[in-house]
Amino acid sequence: MAKQLADYIWFNGNIIPWKEATVHVMTHAIHYGSSVFEGVRAYNTPDQGTCVFRLQEHTRRLFDSAKIYRMNIPYTMDELNQALIDIIVKNELKSAYIRPIAFFGDIGMGIKVPLDAEAEVSIAAFEWGAYLGEEALKNGVDAGISSWNRLAANTMPTGAKAGGNYLSSQLISMEARRHGYGEGIALDRNGYISEGAGENIFVIRDGVISTTPKTAAILPGITRDTVMTLAKELGYEIREENIPREAMYLADEILMCGTAAEVTPVNSVDGITVGKGGRGPITKEIQDMFFGLFNGKTEDKWNWLTPVYK
Ligand code: PMP
Repeated sequence: MAKQLADYIWFNGNIIPWKEATVHVMTHAIHYGSSVFEGVRAYNTPDQGTCVFRLQEHTRRLFDSAKIYRMNIPYTMDELNQALIDIIVKNELKSAYIRPIAFFGDIGMGIKVPLDAEAEVSIAAFEWGAYLGEEALKNGVDAGISSWNRLAANTMPTGAKAGGNYLSSQLISMEARRHGYGEGIALDRNGYISEGAGENIFVIRDGVISTTPKTAAILPGITRDTVMTLAKELGYEIREENIPREAMYLADEILMCGTAAEVTPVNSVDGITVGKGGRGPITKEIQDMFFGLFNGKTEDKWNWLTPVYK
């Protein structure tokens, strides 16, 4: 059994005890990586209590990922939105990391997946702290460029958040930690910066903020979109452009972002200190505005927060 992180899980339409939410060893997804999933966070806000961040966008991306793989999710988006809220409530969580996953279960052996096969769906919700550590949120993470490239275009779609893609992320993360780094950054097949093992990347120089484009083998993150929106709101110019490796060495500031990693500064890349090191001023401004959405200091103009306990 997977380590118990909460009391209950939503599984195929029912809320059941964590320990009963199991699958058979012949589950298709275990053999062939046939799963699509999301990582979502809920924060305890002062005004509206527990709120899910960008729920609609995460559920939409889950269905987008499923569509790419012709996976039929036998629920509507509204039903899964409700299920996600229900499982937070059932576990009585104030803040949470939520993991919806759709996967091929008992559809038989082999890669000849019946077209439009029906997926099984589960949603877990549990407490989970800062993915790269509290210390990294303040002082930055030391990152290293991986010897592994991200997936080449038209091999596996990086725009799908699919289980199989995370073999690439695991290689990048394992190599980074073996070399003593807190996180690994991969280049794409063309040698441009792609993304971290589980984060998108922003490079800042002379007040201009650049991020890698969708064509650089990234998962276009919802936090990436959030950071772009907030930085524009703060008056910064944002460029989506190919970024060469050396731009990381010459940056004033770099930040990584993702649902798990939130907004984390990068202190060094390949042992070269980024700017003055630590958390740069623009990164801090964006980070404050981001966490401000959850501590009440940033107005939620975009309707990104969905209250859980109404
Ligand atoms: N890239 C990869 C490979 C990821 O796993 C994630 C985390 N889901 C991201 C980027 C960031 O995406 P998001 O902000 O939507 O969590």
